[in-house]
Amino acid sequence: MLKKIIIARNYGFCMGVKRAIKIAEETSASATERVTILNEIVHNEAVVERFRKEGLGQALNLDDVTDGTLIISAHGVAPDIIEKAEAKGLNVINATCPLVTRIYDIIRRLVANDYYVIHFGDPNHDETRGVVGHAADRITVVSSSPALDELPAWPGRNLALTTQTTSSMKEALEFRDLALKKWPDLEVFDTICNATNRLQSAVVDLAPHVDMILVVGSTTSANSKRLASIANALCGRGILIGSAVEIDERWFTGADGIRTVGISAGASTPEFLVEAVIKCLVDISGGTAEVVQQERIQ
Ligand code: SF4
Repeated sequence: MLKKIIIARNYGFCMGVKRAIKIAEETSASATERVTILNEIVHNEAVVERFRKEGLGQALNLDDVTDGTLIISAHGVAPDIIEKAEAKGLNVINATCPLVTRIYDIIRRLVANDYYVIHFGDPNHDETRGVVGHAADRITVVSSSPALDELPAWPGRNLALTTQTTSSMKEALEFRDLALKKWPDLEVFDTICNATNRLQSAVVDLAPHVDMILVVGSTTSANSKRLASIANALCGRGILIGSAVEIDERWFTGADGIRTVGISAGASTPEFLVEAVIKCLVDISGGTAEVVQQERIQ
């Protein structure tokens, strides 16, 4: 029987996600013409669906947007996308997170000073595509430490390292150390964002105190998937769930059933989804499970 639910001290919406949602809300409220969001405003199905229901268009390709206002998502885009959108006469509203813009600024500076950039990240993520689009011929994306061996020694090149904002801190540090062995003069920029740091640290600290951690977030959310994978590595059961309907009551029954469960949520997960998960778990316990915040763990 489930006895205890421990909520991570940091979970859910980060600054960049709150800002992008506010920009989309304000743009929608004042719009007199069609508004379209390019890519997902943030990587959460409930948030995307909410704006769709409110009448905002969604597009994955700029070619599909012919008029009106275009909102750039929190993950950003390559500069040529914004140039093309403006050339088409679209009213561009940029909701890119300032911490993603910070990476763009670092890369522009590096390239202007004749550097080549190794970017540690997922090549298929919107953020990485935007980063690469800032200097495609100067950036090499690497998604894992073993892939380092396949890169040339690049003698004579000025090299710098940047990292996707939502990368695993542990993996990024391992990658950095290996990269420094290969290129001792590598200039390293810490570009993992504070929100990612706080969410991951909370899960790391929570793991020894629970039998399972449920991470509420979409499968499209890189940082939510990362939290689930960290939880899984540390406590053996880290499960990503989109919402309360994915909770399986059998996890909590029988002699081996989960007694203490931890709750976290990705940076793009709305609070109402987390509240619904907690309520579902309390109901499964027959109303007897104690709900506590992580800070109270001794
Ligand atoms: S996870 Fe970090 S980089 Fe991404 S939107 Fe949130 S604050 Fe910005």
